Amino acid sequence: MANARPIIGIPTWSDRSALYHNAPIHALGQPYVHAIQRAGGIPLLIPVGPDEESLQTLATRVDGVLLAGGGDVDPTLYGQDPHPALRDVDRARDDLELSLARLALHRGLPILGICRGIQVLNVATGGTLYQDLPSERPGPFSHGCFQPQFPPDHLAHEVASEPGSLLARIMGQATFGVNSRHHQGIHRLGKGWNAVAHAPDGLVEAVENPDHPFALGVQWHPENLLGLPEHGLCLFAALVAACGAR
Ligand code: MN
Repeated sequence: MANARPIIGIPTWSDRSALYHNAPIHALGQPYVHAIQRAGGIPLLIPVGPDEESLQTLATRVDGVLLAGGGDVDPTLYGQDPHPALRDVDRARDDLELSLARLALHRGLPILGICRGIQVLNVATGGTLYQDLPSERPGPFSHGCFQPQFPPDHLAHEVASEPGSLLARIMGQATFGVNSRHHQGIHRLGKGWNAVAHAPDGLVEAVENPDHPFALGVQWHPENLLGLPEHGLCLFAALVAACGAR
């Protein structure tokens, strides 16, 4: 029976709270949670540090997975030495998200990766990243339109989607503007992915796996674009629909 309100697992990460004497806390930006709720899903926040057996059990209880944005993936996980501009590496988060991504890909569990999430999907399948776009791949415009100079829904550049792709069907348009808050990007594609959207400078902005029911990664931040008619909830609604159809 189709599940009317699918449960979407979202990994959290470790942070510190000044409110609680700098005690460690689990963190996750609320826009991700609210987007899943508004799309009709039930978000389930996943703590860092589960053992592999617990994670495998968890993967049988959720209907889909969302990978949120955040710091850089440890480059040793794709065979590179750290770049001087590397920031906010969190190996416990890497381990959790890479394991969960591989489980979701292996089991046909719907998964959407956002910003860092597309990079996790790529590394999980043997791909590599540009560790720092400004120094490794300088281009005609910046992908690093971060707050507070830029509002979260600032449309930094256009992307062009591949005709006939799942992404193009979800978006309902061939080209559209996106926000851009990343200093890393997809370099060599991991196994199983098609690059289905590119920025004007040629950088990969979305990937999908055509052999999987719903495995999609986007380099932009759709959770901050819900108020724009050309974006709205469409990516989150597509994830929730794919989870409910299982
Ligand atoms: Mn970008």
